[in-house]
Parts: sequence; structure tokens; C-alpha cells
Amino acid sequence: MTAAASYGIPDESQPLPAQVQDLIVGTGPSGSVIASHLQRAGRQVVLLEEGPARVTEQFSKMTPSDVFGSMYRTLGGFPVLGGPETPPMVLVMARCKGGGTVVNGAVCYRTDEDVVDGWRKTLGLQHLTRELWRGYERAERRIGVTSMAELHSAAAIKARGGAQRLGWAHHDVHRNTPGCKGSGRCLTGCPNEAKQSMLLTYLKDAEALGATVYPDTQVTKLTGDFGKVRSVKGKRAGKAFEIKAERVFLACGAVFSPFLLLRSGIKHLRAIGRHLTIHPSTRAYYLYDDKVNAWEGAFQSFAIHQFRKEGIHLINLSPPPLVFGASLPALGAQLRTMLKQLPHMGVMGGLISDESEGRVFATPFDGFPAVQYTMTAADRAKLLRTIGLLGDLGFASGAREVYLPFNWRPAVKNHDQLHAQISSKVAAHDFEITAQHPLGTCRMGYDEDLSVVREDGRVHGYDNLYVVDSSVIPTSIGVNPMLTILAVAEVIGQSLVA
Ligand SMILES: Cc1cc2nc3c(=O)[nH]c(=O)nc-3n(C[C@H](O)[C@H](O)[C@H](O)COP(=O)(O)OP(=O)(O)OC[C@H]3O[C@@H](n4cnc5c(N)ncnc54)[C@H](O)[C@@H]3O)c2cc1C
Ligand code: SF4
Repeated sequence: MTAAASYGIPDESQPLPAQVQDLIVGTGPSGSVIASHLQRAGRQVVLLEEGPARVTEQFSKMTPSDVFGSMYRTLGGFPVLGGPETPPMVLVMARCKGGGTVVNGAVCYRTDEDVVDGWRKTLGLQHLTRELWRGYERAERRIGVTSMAELHSAAAIKARGGAQRLGWAHHDVHRNTPGCKGSGRCLTGCPNEAKQSMLLTYLKDAEALGATVYPDTQVTKLTGDFGKVRSVKGKRAGKAFEIKAERVFLACGAVFSPFLLLRSGIKHLRAIGRHLTIHPSTRAYYLYDDKVNAWEGAFQSFAIHQFRKEGIHLINLSPPPLVFGASLPALGAQLRTMLKQLPHMGVMGGLISDESEGRVFATPFDGFPAVQYTMTAADRAKLLRTIGLLGDLGFASGAREVYLPFNWRPAVKNHDQLHAQISSKVAAHDFEITAQHPLGTCRMGYDEDLSVVREDGRVHGYDNLYVVDSSVIPTSIGVNPMLTILAVAEVIGQSLVA
């Protein structure tokens, strides 16, 4: 048995119930917040989670490939279908008890007020947009949002110096990692119990009050009639099951919640699966003369907000050497050279607020939707601008060479080479892009042509079916979304028990 497989043994020790009051599918931030509210209100809550349950003690023993093999969806890269003008990209999604909060970067941002105001004006979300700020306060308190000002890696300090020289507005990042030891291992699960994932906060609260979580349990279909869901069907360790539920809450994330609706034949609303935004992300690597050991510091600690109004957000990354090495945009001899230089390299990332939209489609395969996303010319231009800014920052921070996220291109050594590479014809397939933030596929709103759920998360036309996760966030928000997902779930949770 491989090491990865030994971490993938399903836990079948608890028999599944035949009937429950409130059944939540998915245990990420959204499912966990809803569970804590419902359980506190005295409901009988059961959560089903497709991925495995892992605990802190395991994180220090698991290799990155164990984690990516068992706790991420499709080894950490779910394919996105694009057209010829769309860079090839993958969606990075978690698949484990606690969802994305266990393996994410823990960066916490509130969505800018003008974006939230747009939801009020265009989608009529009066209640959400009024209550969201209280939702943020509750979520920030519960997950321990703290400044990373004291935990910058040497690479982050160099990047900050570059931003100061350029006069760009910047800030210390806040994360839900009080007591962070700066080990940079966030993406493979925090071994120090610093990251306040759902395993240590909302989900733990719900379990302490009596909620039951069944990991390794995949829901494949909802049954019932139009307007009322009767049960969920699924698979656990290869065996079929069915659980009847008074209410069903989908918290599978913005790819898998719409997929489950569509696979169950729930397609009366045009917006189900549409309006997918993903925050396409890119990065640049900086080579310095002196050692910076980028992985010695908080995984992310420093960001630049100078370009937020343009929809560009820049933030540092301090990945551990194995993850760092695997992410380099090179092959063969160039990759070997870069690997030798790793202690001298820093990396800055940039994400864009996307106007492009994608769509989730049903397929005949359990757990395998088709995801399509077509990038507009304006978003491609915004990505190029982001890459140019990352290059400028690299040189301003003292880098000797900058590697841009284009396949098959040499490092650039000065501004002329930087701008020559940016302005040369960069084909869509030359970009290195990833995305970790799918949103919007079951939008909240009142117009049934444009949205899927009401402000309490209930699906239009249904009495007892809810979507409560990242799918309901109506638009791209331009910053990391976990805190907003938690705050929105706080608002929905409050309205469910009011
Ligand atoms: C590597 C990485 C780094 C990130 N870094 C940050 C960051 O620093 N800051 C930030 O704000 N955001 C970050 N994010 C994004 C953030 O974690 C997600 O936006 C957030 O977790 C989404 O919450 P959710 O509840 O909608 O879904 P998820 O967290 O994706 O949880 C959904 C859960 O549902 C389960 N599920 C799906 N389908 C089924 C089914 N059919 N049956 C049973 N279970 C099912 C999945 O296995 C999963 O565990 C990151 C994400 C990743 C992957
Ligand atoms: S940097 Fe290390 S200690 Fe800090 S939250 Fe990440 S994994 Fe935990």
C-alpha cells in the first residue's frame, strides 16, 4: 500500500442514520457555520463529507503528496475547459473534513464596501448587505483573525522594501492563525494548531453540541418532488445509502453544489451553475544575491492594495521547499538551476477580480462535473498588467533576475527585458494560471432569472432545500473569500434560527 493510500482508508465505524432533521452536505467554512447555528438552536444536525477526516497530529507526518493525494480534489488540480483565448488552468479545491479551511493560506479579508453595495443595488440584497458587517465581526472573533506583522519571511521583507521604494500602498496581512510559528506549511495542514480551521472552531463547536460528521461519505443525488426534497442518496466505502431529511443544506462549494443540483434534475433556474468566477491567479519568482529562505515565515504576510480599484491584488507566498519547487515555471536544465537557487528565491502572487464567467455542467459521472471558463480579452490584459507589476516589484526589491509565469521563457534581468517579454505576443496557452476561489454559481438574489437562492439560502421554488456556500457569493470580490463565505454563512445561519 502506498503512503497516500494508507491515509485514504475510509472511516466506516459510525453507521449512518436513516432519517435526520437537518442534513448538511460538505464541511467547509459554510457548512460548519450553518451546523453550529442549527445545532445551537436544538436541531438534530448531520454533516456528510466526501473527503477524509484528518487531525493535527497527522499533518506533521504526511508528505505533501499524501496531502495532495487525499485531502485535495483530483490531486490539487481540477481541470477547467477553456477556449483558445483562455489560458489553460486548474482549480485548486480541498476535499476533506473542514474543507478549504484545513489546507488554505488562512488569509482573511473583508470584501470592499463598494462591491457589497453593488450587490444591494443590482440584486436587491438589502438584508445581507446590512448584516454582513456583523457577520464579519462574529467570524473574525471566532477564528482568531490576527496580523502577521511580526512573521514576515526575509523574502516578504524584501518585497515590502520594493513596494516602499515604488511608493505603492501596502499592508501586513491578517490571517486566522494566532500563535503562528511561521513554518509555512499551511497548504498541507497546520501541524501546530495555529491555523483556526473549522476542525478547531465552528465544526468543533457544532460537534460539541451534538452534531455528527460522517467523513468519506459522498452524496450523489437529492430525491423528492419539485418544491420539496425528500432524501439524499450517496456512496460510502462503495456501498449505496439513502438518508431522509426534513431540510437539506448544500455546502459543497461553488463547483459541487450546482453540480449536485443539476445531477438531481433540479434545473428550473437558469442561473444554476452559471456566473462562475474564480479569481485567476498568477505569480513571479525573484532571484536575490543573498539567501532569503522564503519558507521561513508566515505562509502569507505582506500584500499590496495600490491596485485594488483596478481589480488587482498582490500578495506574497512562502511555500515550503517541496511545494515551492513543484510550482516553478520551468522544466529540464532551467528547473534544475532554479531548484539549486531555491534558498535565494522569493515569490509574489497576484490575483484579479474577474469579469469573465464560467459554468458548471452536469455529467454522467459521480463527483466529476465539467467546468468551463472563457477569459475575456480585458481579463487577459489585466493578468498581463499584474505580471508586469510583479516584475517591477521584483526589481525594486533588489532581485537580480525575475522569472515570469510564462512557459518556456528565460528569466528577465532588467526592465527592458521585462517589458519586452510582457509586450511580446503572449499566447493564451503560455500563461501559468491557477485559481482557488470559485464563486457565484448559485447566486443570491430575488430575480429568478439571475439568481438561485434567497437571502436565507433557500433555493427559489423549494421549501426545504438550501445552498449556503461560496456558490451564493454573487460576484467576483477581488480578495481571498474565506472570511466573506464565513460572514455570509453567519448571516444565513442567524436568519435560519431567528
Ligand atoms: C489551497 C487553497 C488555498 C486557499 N487560500 C485561501 C486563503 O488564504 N484565504 C481565503 O480567503 N481563501 C482561501 N482559499 C479559498 C477558501 O478556502 C475557499 O473559498 C473556501 O474554503 C470555500 O468554502 P466552501 O464552504 O464554499 O467550500 P469548501 O471549503 O470547498 O468545502 C466544501 C466541502 O464539501 C465537500 N463536498 C463536495 N461535494 C460533496 C458531496 N457530493 N458529498 C459530500 N461532500 C462533498 C468537499 O469535499 C469539501 O470538503 C484557498 C483555497 C485553497 C484550495
Ligand atoms: S505558517 Fe506554520 S504555524 Fe503558521 S499557520 Fe501555517 S502551518 Fe501553522
